[in-house]
Amino acid sequence: MVSVKEEKKRIDYLLERDNVTDKQLDAVYQEALAGLQEVIGDFYINYSVDGTLNSVDLSRKVTRKDLELLRRQYAKLPDDMEIPESKRADVYVAQGNINLSGLLAGMIGLVMLAAALRSKKIVQRNRKTAVREEISYQSKNMGNLSKNKKRRFKRENKALSEPNYKPNGDVSYIPWQDRLLANSDQAVNRINIKVNKVINQGMTGQDVNGKLFPSSPTQSVNTNLRNEVTAIDYKLKRIARTEAARLEDEVTESRFKTEKVKWFDWVTEPGACKKCINLFYDGPYEVGAPDSPRIPDDSHPNCRCRRIPSDYVDDEDISSKALLAGMVSANSKSPKNEDSSDDEEFKFQTNEIKSAIIGLETSDGIMISNISKHLVERTIQRDRDVSTMIDALVNPLEISPTRYTDGKPSKRYCGAVTTVVINPDTGNVITTHPTRRNIRKRHGVYQDEDK
Ligand SMILES: [Zn+2]
Repeated sequence: MVSVKEEKKRIDYLLERDNVTDKQLDAVYQEALAGLQEVIGDFYINYSVDGTLNSVDLSRKVTRKDLELLRRQYAKLPDDMEIPESKRADVYVAQGNINLSGLLAGMIGLVMLAAALRSKKIVQRNRKTAVREEISYQSKNMGNLSKNKKRRFKRENKALSEPNYKPNGDVSYIPWQDRLLANSDQAVNRINIKVNKVINQGMTGQDVNGKLFPSSPTQSVNTNLRNEVTAIDYKLKRIARTEAARLEDEVTESRFKTEKVKWFDWVTEPGACKKCINLFYDGPYEVGAPDSPRIPDDSHPNCRCRRIPSDYVDDEDISSKALLAGMVSANSKSPKNEDSSDDEEFKFQTNEIKSAIIGLETSDGIMISNISKHLVERTIQRDRDVSTMIDALVNPLEISPTRYTDGKPSKRYCGAVTTVVINPDTGNVITTHPTRRNIRKRHGVYQDEDK
């Protein structure tokens, strides 16, 4: 099984890979910025009157010669545009044919469209790399599966990197290409608004650098085009990273299903946000359950957290396996936690829990008589507080009916934080686990997550 430590190394690697992609996108937008500077600079030289560019002068019709400027930008677009992209190019060309003011807007649109198309290729290449590398990473960690199963796993997941892939059954998913173009459109609008602001006041040669392209992001904020380019660059980096993470998570899910993994844990990236830290604490989660969190839709864009198989066994598994097998051999060690076998700690925790809960009466009148070794292990392993167990027993959100597995009864007390499983006949506490989110949501105790 993959350890949390190994998975964190994987996260580090992915963050490094993201940085490489970020640099590629930075280069595209540095070039776009230079393109804007050139287009606006040339336009100023060609159409300023007595050193000033005025909006009234820009309402005149364009000549063949004027259109040469537009054609030069159009020629920089790739030949393999898809329909939404070539439609945009057509719009910018049509705009450029109206008058001089439209000519400038059309050229700005074409510069930014060329950058969007180059970014799109970078994002798509990144998606492909993400899927290829994730398949190989997950295959390495998969247990003894038949060759056929492994082969099918690889084949099916390869299809994820197709540009038009849609996540299974997610109706709210907007294709990344559409989001990329929409973000670029917004940038074009904002740039044009800023340019017109300067032209409407009469743009001088100094204004080109002073107002539109100042060297610092805090200068001329209302008309600063560098900031717009930085913003769209950032948005595209976020798309690249988020879409890679989404596909990696899909491959992970597919691996869980291929291997019939039942529970998974959330592994946070370095410096994870509160939302993700809470996702970590709320685990483990059931694989494939509708309320089990996924990346990025249940975390956030840019999220680099990961999911790994959990060594958690739920109470059904316990009653059928561990409980019947005498459950707690003295040698049973959790693979996750090397320190819990430490005798001192174990004795200490055993006494702590015993003194806290033995003799306690549950809300439905069962006297707690003893605790299992397994319970102590779980408590140490997950660093749970005994008070949350007491709360579950005395003040449960809900109590499951008694369940029998091979004649052994178990009953589950779901508290606001912790769930405790007991044998209702003997009063022995079998195990504990975090109360699942769906139960907490049902009882309205899910809101105060952000502390
Ligand atoms: Zn995260």
